[in-house]
Amino acid sequence: MIKAGYTVTALSTGQFRLDGGAMFGNVPKVLWERQHPADDKNRILLELRVLLIEGHGRKILVDTGSGNQWDPKEQSIFALTVDNDPGVVSALRAKGVDPDSITDVVLTHLHFDHAGGVTRRGPNGPVLTFPNATHHLQRSNLDTARAPNERERASYLPRNVDPLADARLALADGTSEILDDIHVEVSDGHTTGLQSVRVGSGEGAVVFTADMLPTAAHVPVSWMMGYDLCPRTLMKEKRSLLERAARYRWAIVLEHDPCRDAVLVSEKDGRFQSAGDVVLA
Ligand SMILES: [Zn+2]
Repeated sequence: MIKAGYTVTALSTGQFRLDGGAMFGNVPKVLWERQHPADDKNRILLELRVLLIEGHGRKILVDTGSGNQWDPKEQSIFALTVDNDPGVVSALRAKGVDPDSITDVVLTHLHFDHAGGVTRRGPNGPVLTFPNATHHLQRSNLDTARAPNERERASYLPRNVDPLADARLALADGTSEILDDIHVEVSDGHTTGLQSVRVGSGEGAVVFTADMLPTAAHVPVSWMMGYDLCPRTLMKEKRSLLERAARYRWAIVLEHDPCRDAVLVSEKDGRFQSAGDVVLA
């Protein structure tokens, strides 16, 4: 898709599985399992989708998948398959994009399934996967990741966070335009300092909301994850986002949906629903 002078492409960096109950919080399984069938361990299949945005002299990557630094036990817990290269590197090469040509990595937040590909195994420990790129992040998320609370400690892994000390960092403090017509907006409901990333403004923008809205099943405001830190905050933030998405026909990219890149949404009597899939090939 072309938007605001950029070519916007969704790339799969791999798939994994998480507990279906945790993915849908207080929504009963009888409701979510129709859309997301669970395996014998109650896990559902999830995509590790990232966005490649090319234009204005830049190659911008939004999120990086889960990377490849997983031991066999972790691979079995999350049904991950790992390769010699992080999945994001293989996905870029398959698209004909040299990973070293990435100018900017925009991280929605540093949970392992978003920032795992920021680093890769080096001879003396993890090293940056995109050493030439500027890494864009909310300062409050970096602070959280460096000293995570007990609940999120398993999601903010030092191997993804510590090497950022060597990265060229552009830290944002709130909502802003970080590059030409690339806008970030802060949400604190899922974790502190998540930033959604929007390409363009007004009609027909593309917005990558990460874990604010991980799959199409999470379009209704109250369908949220058990992982979300502050559900009441997230409901407010989701409503604000969905209202604008419905009004301006924004394509909402679904980072974890196993079947679709993005959706449009519509509103009726204050309730939101999916209103058609969007392919970002
Ligand atoms: Zn997350």
